[in-house]
Amino acid sequence: MSFEKLGLSAELLRAVADQGYTTPTPVQANSIPVILEGNDVLAGAQTGTGKTAGFTLPMLQLMHKSHPERSRKHAVRALVLTPTRELAAQVAESIATYGKYLPLRSTVVFGGVGINPQIQKLNRGVDILVATPGRLLDLIGQGKVDLGHVEFFVLDEADRMLDMGFIHDIRKVLKLLPKKRQNLLFSATFSEEIKQLASGFLHSPVYVEVARNETAHQVTQMVHPVSRAKKRSLLSHLIKQGDWQQVLVFSKTKHGANKLTLFLEGEGISAVAIHGNKSQAARTKALADFKAGSVRVMVATDIAARGLDIDSLPHVVNFDLPHVAEDYVHRIGRTGRAGNSGESISLVSGDERKLLVGIERLIKKSIAKVVVPGFEPNDVEDAAAAAKDPKPGQRQQQRRHDPSSPRKPHATRNRRPGRNERAASKG
Ligand code: AMP
Repeated sequence: MSFEKLGLSAELLRAVADQGYTTPTPVQANSIPVILEGNDVLAGAQTGTGKTAGFTLPMLQLMHKSHPERSRKHAVRALVLTPTRELAAQVAESIATYGKYLPLRSTVVFGGVGINPQIQKLNRGVDILVATPGRLLDLIGQGKVDLGHVEFFVLDEADRMLDMGFIHDIRKVLKLLPKKRQNLLFSATFSEEIKQLASGFLHSPVYVEVARNETAHQVTQMVHPVSRAKKRSLLSHLIKQGDWQQVLVFSKTKHGANKLTLFLEGEGISAVAIHGNKSQAARTKALADFKAGSVRVMVATDIAARGLDIDSLPHVVNFDLPHVAEDYVHRIGRTGRAGNSGESISLVSGDERKLLVGIERLIKKSIAKVVVPGFEPNDVEDAAAAAKDPKPGQRQQQRRHDPSSPRKPHATRNRRPGRNERAASKG
């Protein structure tokens, strides 16, 4: 399952990619399509499941679709009620993050802080308002919020709302909302009281439930700056020291993948290479051995890795950085799947720093850099090595100008072998 398949627009897909999310969480996969279809939703999901994006993404899309231009008036079109200030602030931040490429304005109001700055923001006009009930009713009482144009009403963490005694406030708010609107209710538990509240304002809701342990996962990304000459021994050190049992390693070239595999074997670490020069039978066997756990390391080129069906690898290593920045995102998507957390580690030599800048620009964040003692970078040595290497990746980059189109391994078979491949066939 991918975000693209959920029917989200380009602006939202871009914002999701910027966050480094590669796969929708179960609550997202289940709720986004039904919300986009205009249904009311009753979702059993707690914090940590990715529920915020689950309701925010489709809501933003529908709001933008019905009014693509920035409206001058900015009447409140979506109201999200949360039980606590912290959650309100967090949800508002998510809305700003996911909606950064859309011309929709959002703000948050909650008690315990000055009301005037909130009034000023409301006066400038907002499309989406995130609020805790007490402060919202305060502002409504002062005539600063008009809920008469609300198209979306979201009740987040409804069970906590009731535990905190907000039922009367919720009922007051509900009375101020227009009849025609879409309602979304999220709750970790479903007591009789919640069911009663839900049946009072949801219209034929679609029920979405997510198991308790299906939390959103995140990929931890890390860069180890290192000299090119020490990359191999650093990889072996990391595998041994961390006792990694399943590692997918990305190599820029087929020749490099073969050489690295031999090196690791020599270090007593079982490894296989998988790339376009291997027969289908050899590839199938390599993958089966890796999946069965009889081989610890699989070294792959980007094209070969594309078709691999492997789930939830704990570690992905970029032995070489990809020349096409989008490939980095595809690579790290190989880890941390299916609710597991994952680690992506890039070994970056001096000559690859420019590629790293391009990747960080694409993912819009800086990746943590940690030098492993004994494996320091050496720019002078790397520059000398790079001068001898006529960058075999560049030809690939030109050919693959459209990173979203599927790569066809056979497209590379008919071309003249590159310098590295000729070298590989010799050795
Ligand atoms: P929530 O349950 O909405 O509070 O989200 C929990 C955490 O999961 C937040 O830190 C989100 O940034 C993160 N998250 C949400 N969706 C995804 C996703 N599809 N992949 C990875 N992380 C996600």
